[in-house]
Amino acid sequence: MKILVINCGSSSLKYQLFNMDNEEVMVKGLVERIGIDGSRLIQEKGDDKYTVEEDMKDHTEAVGHVFDALVDSENGVIKSLSEIDAVGHRFVHGGEKITKSSLIDEEVREAIEEYTKFAPLHNPANLMGLEACEKLLAGVPNVAVFDTAFHQTMPEKTFLYGIDYKYYEEDAIRKYGFHGTSHNFITNKTAEILGKDVKDLNIISCHLGNGSSITAVKNGKSYDTSMGLTPLEGLIMGTRSGDIDPAAITYIMQHKIISANDMENILNKESGVLGVSGVSSDFRDLEAAAKEGNKRAQYALDMFITRTKRYIAGYMAEIGSADAIVFTGGIGENSIDMRKEIMDGFQQFGIEIDEEKNKVRGGAHIVSKDDSKVKIMVVATNEELMIARDTKSIVEA
Ligand code: ADP
Repeated sequence: MKILVINCGSSSLKYQLFNMDNEEVMVKGLVERIGIDGSRLIQEKGDDKYTVEEDMKDHTEAVGHVFDALVDSENGVIKSLSEIDAVGHRFVHGGEKITKSSLIDEEVREAIEEYTKFAPLHNPANLMGLEACEKLLAGVPNVAVFDTAFHQTMPEKTFLYGIDYKYYEEDAIRKYGFHGTSHNFITNKTAEILGKDVKDLNIISCHLGNGSSITAVKNGKSYDTSMGLTPLEGLIMGTRSGDIDPAAITYIMQHKIISANDMENILNKESGVLGVSGVSSDFRDLEAAAKEGNKRAQYALDMFITRTKRYIAGYMAEIGSADAIVFTGGIGENSIDMRKEIMDGFQQFGIEIDEEKNKVRGGAHIVSKDDSKVKIMVVATNEELMIARDTKSIVEA
């Protein structure tokens, strides 16, 4: 069975074609600058790169180019589009209506439209990708996999905000959580590595990347997570503020005369470690600047470390006992220093990283000392594979 996974952003589209007989990635690619001058598609097959530079005015045109590249006689990997058995689409926000990956139907479509209010950039872009596939690949089933779905098991005590309950009842204001596909993948993969039934697994899943979130997983299910109504809450991120006193926001808006829209933009795009450091949103740049003595870069890194500790420790207390603290995402998988510094201070609970074992990037490793009370692990995430697996099981059912 061959499954195409599509992840549409507002002006980009990422794709991977899987052969699900062995879960191999046959080809993957990226389309950039959709609807902007200079659109281009870059497809990678092993070490071979194939580039198409042609204007693509919308996602339908972009998907058309993806299909052409897949069947291209020299650079493609399939002879005909009829070899694609199903398409899995990444969707960001399914709100309370969507609790699992779903075959696209009227109900799913309504949920996507309803929750566009909380994901105004993402849900419409995701929908464009879906509509292009429906048009160009008629008869092939489409499955939607939602970032929010995994977190729909959170109880009221962790998902409600401390505001008048009417805002939840009337406007659906609550914590939804994101990166669910990644946290779900990490949960299943960790259970497999530890040889445990996922239903008995308790972990703290730390997805640390450009966007970062931490999830407390209890009995294999999301119990609490650091992102909220939108991906702005929680840890300090590349360009997102994370947790902040709401009064700081209203103060800035009133005193600098900033509109709600502009403020949202500032909090999403000009804040986080970029805003604090003034250097970069990329942790490699920050680590380099801090080493050269840049104080603000050091503050940004220290803030990231401090908040990550705070969430890990808090979530461990919430779930009662943890089998493992698992690091994933660009930073979690690659930054040896960040992992070491985040885990510093946990020795008092009998939890200790092994500095030698910690010298790894990606893959799947236990990096704690043998006698550590809770294992510390590095597990590379694979959201696309998770989407392909869900798509396969739904289509087969
Ligand atoms: P996204 O959220 O966009 O998927 P990623 O999970 O790819 O992001 O993470 C990107 C982040 O990972 C960047 O901030 C980058 O600095 C960081 N990163 C990647 N490699 C390293 C490394 N070797 N050391 C420190 N940070 C790294």
